[in-house]
Amino acid sequence: MPELPEVEALAGYLRERAVGRRVERFEVASINALKTYDPPPSAVAGRPVTGADRYGKFLDVRFGDDLHLVVHLARAGWLHYREAFPSVTPLRPGKGPIAVRIRLDDGSGFDLTEAGTQKKLAAYLVTDPAQVPGVAKLGPDALAADLPTFAERLRSRRGQVKGVLTDQAVLAGVGNAYSDEILHAARLSPFAITDRLTDEQLAGLHAATRTVLGDAVRRSMGQRAAELKGEKRSGLKVHARKGLPCPVCGDTVREVSFADSSLQYCPTCQTGGKPLADRRLSRLVR
Ligand SMILES: [Zn+2]
Repeated sequence: MPELPEVEALAGYLRERAVGRRVERFEVASINALKTYDPPPSAVAGRPVTGADRYGKFLDVRFGDDLHLVVHLARAGWLHYREAFPSVTPLRPGKGPIAVRIRLDDGSGFDLTEAGTQKKLAAYLVTDPAQVPGVAKLGPDALAADLPTFAERLRSRRGQVKGVLTDQAVLAGVGNAYSDEILHAARLSPFAITDRLTDEQLAGLHAATRTVLGDAVRRSMGQRAAELKGEKRSGLKVHARKGLPCPVCGDTVREVSFADSSLQYCPTCQTGGKPLADRRLSRLVR
C-alpha cells in the first residue's frame, strides 16, 4: 500500500511529467471507484493539469483552477504512467484492474489501477479537497509535524502505539509498513501504550518518524511510478521481513498476525528480546 513517501513521489512525478498538459479524455472504467457524481467526469476534458499534491496518503491532481481528482489508492491501488497508450479505443467498464484513465494531449497519460478482487480504491472529483471526508479528518502531516505537535497528537489518543501512529486522524501519512519501520528505528514495542511513553521516548519516536519518512521520500523522489514499489521494499528493515535477520542486530525478525494484517518487529531492538504473543497462533494452540 502506498504511504506518505510513495504518494509524495507520485505527486512529484506528475508535477514533472503531467503539469502543463491538457486532458484529452477522462475515462472511468470502474463506476465504484468514483465516489462523486458532481462535477461529472466530463468536466475534466479540455482542462490543463495544473498541479499534483499529497494530503496524508491521498493524491490530489488539479485540473484548471478549481477541479481536483483526489485519490486514495488503498491497499492494492497504484498509478501507472504511460508514455503512450496502445489504442485510442475507450476503456470498457468492467472487471479489469484499471479504474480511471486520463489521456493527455501529448499522447501520454496515466491509469489508476487496483489489483485483486477487493476494490477499495476511492477517487473523488471535487472543487475543494476538503470535500473529501477522509481528507477533512486528517491530522497534521506526519513528516511536517514538529515535536510539540507530534507529542500532543500521540498523547491525545490512548492506545497501542502502532495503532495510534497509523490513525490518520492523529497524524497523516503513516501506514502499516512505515509504522513498523518507525517503531523499529525508535526501538519501541508496537504494543507500547501511548500515554505511558516518556518524553524521551516520544522525542525518539518523533525523530525516527522524520528520519524513516524523510529517507524514504528522498529515495523515492525522481523515481518513475513503476520503480517505486521496488524502491520501497529495498529500504525496509523489518516490515515484510519475517524470519530474516534484523540488519541492526542480527536477531530474527518476528511477526504478529491479525485477521487481515500483520506487523513485523525485532525482539532484541524493540521488546527487550521477548517475543510478543501472536494472538492468532495462541488461539489455535488453546
Ligand atoms: Zn534488531
